[in-house]
Amino acid sequence: MDKKENNLMEKIISLCKRRGFIYQGSEIYGGLAGTWDYGPLGVTLKNYIKNLWWKKFVESREDMYGIDADILMNAEVWKATGHVDNFSDPMVECKKCKKRFRADQLDISNSDKKLDISNCPECGGKLGEEKKFNMMFSTKIGALEDSSSIVYLRPETAQGMFVNFKNIIDSFHHKLPFGLAQIGKAFRNEITPRDFIFRVREFNQMEIEYFLEEEDWEKYFNYWREEMLDWINLIGIDMNHIHELEVDKDDRAHYSDRTIDFEFDFPFGRNELYGLSYRSDFDLSRHSNSSSVDLSYFNEEKKERIAPHVIEPTFGLERTILALMISSYKEDTKGKEIRSYLAFKPSIAPVLCAVSPLLKNKKELRDYAHLIYRSLKDEFGKVMWDDNGNIGKRYRRQDEIGTPWCIVIDFDTLKDNTVTIRDRDTGKQKRIKKSRLINYLRKKIKNS
Ligand code: ATP
Repeated sequence: MDKKENNLMEKIISLCKRRGFIYQGSEIYGGLAGTWDYGPLGVTLKNYIKNLWWKKFVESREDMYGIDADILMNAEVWKATGHVDNFSDPMVECKKCKKRFRADQLDISNSDKKLDISNCPECGGKLGEEKKFNMMFSTKIGALEDSSSIVYLRPETAQGMFVNFKNIIDSFHHKLPFGLAQIGKAFRNEITPRDFIFRVREFNQMEIEYFLEEEDWEKYFNYWREEMLDWINLIGIDMNHIHELEVDKDDRAHYSDRTIDFEFDFPFGRNELYGLSYRSDFDLSRHSNSSSVDLSYFNEEKKERIAPHVIEPTFGLERTILALMISSYKEDTKGKEIRSYLAFKPSIAPVLCAVSPLLKNKKELRDYAHLIYRSLKDEFGKVMWDDNGNIGKRYRRQDEIGTPWCIVIDFDTLKDNTVTIRDRDTGKQKRIKKSRLINYLRKKIKNS
């Protein structure tokens, strides 16, 4: 990573902490590797992304059903899918300092140090033999502590959809093709969590399992590829930094017959943002065999039972947030100062607009500003009251958290009922009638 790019990550990490987006997990105890806590602005951003995703891929469609399966599942699920045997990364351990590394990432993570990859990147000691390390977190369920009480924290949300396939067919009788969608936590005991929220041990997936007849898989694979690109564009991730990678057979997950990775140019290198896989009938067939429950589908027209095949578009929420932060982070000069701002679209900005009285200690300005604040909050929800410091400082603070508009109530407002509205990206200000404010913002949001 060169200095400029390193700098960008540092700026984003520091902004996230300073402004209440993302904090290190368990920070006061020295942290816990691979865990991050989301502050008030971070959780709001997360929720807006989830809502937008749900709206696009579930609510606005006629062929999609949302579900919310539990994280803990019968361990047989993970035996049937091969996760117990195969969900592993290659690991090497340093014989001297005992630190562990992902063998397939050693040459990448240390490219700037030009280390011999048979040496430990931390202490230079000799690295041991490569071993398989299963990434599923296991725990015990119930009061009995024997092997039958082992359960796993799910490493992907997908299986919750496969094991509920029959329930959905029985309740809704939808013809193929149709999909199940879910947003939820997944857990992976990553050997080397790294790069802020890029590789963590607890994260959210927004996933779809789209069931279809085998002969249609290519058509729908291409269709979902377009839909994923459309989503990336919709939320404001920089399309110039998106690249599609056709994943080689040897590098694909054990269940996949075709995979495209949507990669993003992160400051630390080009890496997977999202994935699109053709999982064939792998999962449903495995579960049918293991559970002895028939998970086939009856095609009424052809009068035959078939094993549905599946296309899986998968979106990591944390990587979405990171790519969005990187795409949105801008710097320019206003006067003599360098200012930084997050150019979030209004639909996902944690704060839509901030309302301020010009002077904090003038009661008539505060009262008026408060009325405006209340009416905008009732209309849009995500509106912030900000009377801290002088106006310049307030603008900088709101720019940094990506607030598209700031509204200021001054002495002219008391005379003519106009307010100043300032645009984040241009810094330009204009006066508009208080009575036009809501419509003005509605129109702006619609056109953004
Ligand atoms: P990688 O090769 O980077 O480990 P993967 O191919 O194992 O990722 P998938 O199994 O396809 O990832 O998971 C689906 C999505 O979940 C990924 O595209 C990514 O957005 C997200 N994801 C996977 N692992 C992590 C992680 N450790 N931290 C954050 N997000 C993750």
